[in-house]
Amino acid sequence: MICLGIEGTAHSIGVGLVRDIKKSCQVLSNCIKTYQPEHGGIHPREAANHHAAYIADLIETSVKKANMDFAAIDLIAFSQGPGLGPCLRTAATAARALALSLDKPLIGVNHCVAHLEIGRGTVRGCTDPVLLYVSGANTQVIAFAEGKYRVFGETLDVGIGNCLDKFGRGVGLDFPCGPKIEELAKKGTCYLPLPYSIKGMDIAFSGLLTAAENILQRGEKLEDVCYSLQETTFAMLTEVTERAMAHTEKKEVLLGGGVASNKRLREMVQMMARDRGAAFFVPSKDLCVDNGAMIAWLGFLMYDSGLRMSIDESIINQRFRTDMVEVTWRG
Ligand code: AMP
Ligand code: MG
Repeated sequence: MICLGIEGTAHSIGVGLVRDIKKSCQVLSNCIKTYQPEHGGIHPREAANHHAAYIADLIETSVKKANMDFAAIDLIAFSQGPGLGPCLRTAATAARALALSLDKPLIGVNHCVAHLEIGRGTVRGCTDPVLLYVSGANTQVIAFAEGKYRVFGETLDVGIGNCLDKFGRGVGLDFPCGPKIEELAKKGTCYLPLPYSIKGMDIAFSGLLTAAENILQRGEKLEDVCYSLQETTFAMLTEVTERAMAHTEKKEVLLGGGVASNKRLREMVQMMARDRGAAFFVPSKDLCVDNGAMIAWLGFLMYDSGLRMSIDESIINQRFRTDMVEVTWRG
């Protein structure tokens, strides 16, 4: 089957085409356009306007890049949630229009589950991982247990990416700030203690963010604060991931989301995996960030397992929880 997927939960609009080859995923094309706010954070309506302006071109380009024509597409998938309402509605409307005009089936998928499934589908050896999903708005530790993807731990306030972006914005860095903070952190030499806030299996970043801003105002070096911010937040993420692995007795860890590009985070999670005798996986960068190919792949898995969705059922859900999805495609 060939499936076209449309991603539009937040700042990015993406269209990807995938094909299944013996239950593994071949990405045929994966095109993304990202909305850059002129200042401040993402304004949902402006992001949606951006997506509406680019979606038709992205669909055309993605089909062309895959060397396909529209008649070859068997299924249309889209990100049904969680995410920003106006963005989700824009992507869903495009998906419905395309499915109706091509007379092809439509499937709405959970964005967080798609981050996990694209790892299983494209990374050799990755079959049953604990996913550390670290993006702008989302931060969750997810693993399969008893028919569902369960959230073993998550942020109680902002996502790790938002935490880094907010800190970066405060010191005048451009969005996205994560990569710039990573560069500054490399030059840090002194670890400055910050609140290490884990509550049960959940984590909180906002107090830590305020503390980081405060020590900077006190006159500490920006490089040292960036270094300390990364060390503390990434250690919290690694600890919760490790505990989820111990609890579920899983032997694989997978990274996903934009923050998975960070080399220091990779290093820390990889070290933890090695100490546990577990395997460590990261999908290629274009499949870690929000993208249409991962949506297409999960759409395929759901459709292939017998799921069908009417247009009426394709309504978006801003608060679509990872554990609301019945996983019909795994034993
Ligand atoms: P996503 O929401 O998954 O598309 O990821 C976007 C987030 O990833 C933004 O908050 C970025 O600041 C963050 N990000 C991207 N690259 C890096 C990096 N190298 N280190 C830390 N954060 C990053
Ligand atoms: Mg994401």
